[in-house]
Amino acid sequence: MPSEFELIAKYFTRPARTAALGVGDDCALLRPPAGLVLALTTDTLCEGTHFLPGADPRRLGHKALAVNLSDLAAMGADPRWFLLAIALPDVDEAWLEAFAEGMFAIADAYAIELIGGDTTRGPRTITITALGTLPAGYALRRDAAQAGDDVWLSGSTGDAALGLAHLKGRVALAPDAAARCVERLEAPVPRVALGQRLRGIAAAAIDVSDGLLADLGHVLERSKVAAEVDFEALPRSADLRACADRTLADECLLAGGDDYELVFTAGTD
Ligand code: ADP
Ligand code: MG
Repeated sequence: MPSEFELIAKYFTRPARTAALGVGDDCALLRPPAGLVLALTTDTLCEGTHFLPGADPRRLGHKALAVNLSDLAAMGADPRWFLLAIALPDVDEAWLEAFAEGMFAIADAYAIELIGGDTTRGPRTITITALGTLPAGYALRRDAAQAGDDVWLSGSTGDAALGLAHLKGRVALAPDAAARCVERLEAPVPRVALGQRLRGIAAAAIDVSDGLLADLGHVLERSKVAAEVDFEALPRSADLRACADRTLADECLLAGGDDYELVFTAGTD
């Protein structure tokens, strides 16, 4: 059976690109870019809580990094580096290979570099810590919404939660709708380019991981403002509109998690 070090070498080591020192020593070394602020975030996915047992490892590798990229996007940061702490119940090389493939595919798409981590035995748990950079004073903070701002949403919410409801047998979607919604759940697309473009334009921003109302609520609370939301005017996907269970569809729209869209506020001028 391969040792922890062999697994790290085989699946999680690539030549350092922008890091001064990458995987393989006691610490990674970075040269903080002059004049830029570092944005740091971490997110854990636990089997049974954040993903279903038996989830596709390729998609899991994608999602574990995507949720961190989404936090960087919600701050307006440029993705740079990440660390991966992974606990696995057994050594399953086919699983590891697919996981690494999914993770590095999205890492390369967003030019973010794996610089270190930890590999242990335990209940399947994946923690990624991501670092980004942005010019000082340009972060899209939750506490920066102003009275009079408009509230904006990228894309639409609810599809990921609808996909989860389908997987759990709470609703029976048509096969093509089910595939689209489950893809939104398992392979979310972080709004990195939008977050970068919103620097200097948006006041406050947050990514929708817990649900539209809950996450908008975090911005309002931190900014000490209130918002008016026109329920009928909220964007809905065709799949959400086609869902026969209207109560479930509304619940997914307003309170479903895992969409990873951006909610942001901006002045009208
Ligand atoms: P230490 O015992 O000093 O913490 P480890 O044996 O845990 O070192 O890790 C050895 C090297 O491999 C370190 O550079 C660490 O950052 C890296 N590493 C361990 N696990 C991973 C992983 N899952 N992904 C990327 N790098 C990892
Ligand atoms: Mg260690």
